[in-house]
Amino acid sequence: MLAEILTIGDELLTGHTVDSNSSYIAQKLTERGYWVRRKTTVGDDVEEIKRAVGEIISRKPSVLVISGGLGPTHDDVTMLAVAEALGRRLILRDDCLRRIEKFYRELHKKGLIDDPELNEARRKMAHLPEGAEPLENTVGAAPGAYIEHEDVKIFVLPGMPGEMKAMLEREVLPRLGARKFVQRKLLAEITDESKLAPVLTEALERFSIRIHSSPKGFGRFIGIIIFAEDEESIEKAKSFMEEKGILFEEGW
Ligand code: ATP
Repeated sequence: MLAEILTIGDELLTGHTVDSNSSYIAQKLTERGYWVRRKTTVGDDVEEIKRAVGEIISRKPSVLVISGGLGPTHDDVTMLAVAEALGRRLILRDDCLRRIEKFYRELHKKGLIDDPELNEARRKMAHLPEGAEPLENTVGAAPGAYIEHEDVKIFVLPGMPGEMKAMLEREVLPRLGARKFVQRKLLAEITDESKLAPVLTEALERFSIRIHSSPKGFGRFIGIIIFAEDEESIEKAKSFMEEKGILFEEGW
């Protein structure tokens, strides 16, 4: 099952913000058994976002997770761009409007903002592409959206990491089925990656696993991550490699 991630924001392109959202989303999708085939980042620009969404949809991944640009300001254009890319209208959702109204009333009651009333910028966040299901934002104001389009499950999430993570856990992951990859980090006590390579290749052929390896500890260790559908497959692959003379320490 293939997945793609699209992160949106000028600050990601200028380097002012490190794109930690895409790493977090990638980890969670990988744990669920998805193969994240590509990550894309574009600025807060309707045409750029439309083009990126169109290109991703044409590659037909099972899942597309988009993050960023749902807020009230003029440069938050993600929902509009996604709607246009999919050939759908942007619709004012009464249920989302009520939720946003409640959110600002509560902030006002706590003395955090002066004005509890809905204004144009706040109403903007209640617009979703036609046919989308709203995703609840338990941390901030802007709802996310879930859209099924040409067999691609599209999730549109906020950019603030706290909001994105809460929505991903609560609204996205439960819609992606129960299948889960487990992963184990091991340190191979070997100085030469080329000696490890044939053993890894053989393990990959024999067992239903994926392996990433990278040098660690100034050439004394090679860090490997084994992904599999269950612990048993990881254990078998590890034992096999130990029989081939590779010594492992857990974790890194
Ligand atoms: P909100 O609804 O909370 O306003 P938003 O969807 O409008 O969210 P953005 O305006 O895109 O979010 O981003 C808000 C902040 O979140 C950014 O200033 C940045 O600090 C952070 N942020 C956005 N995208 C990412 C990302 N991919 N990785 C890490 N941080 C991010």
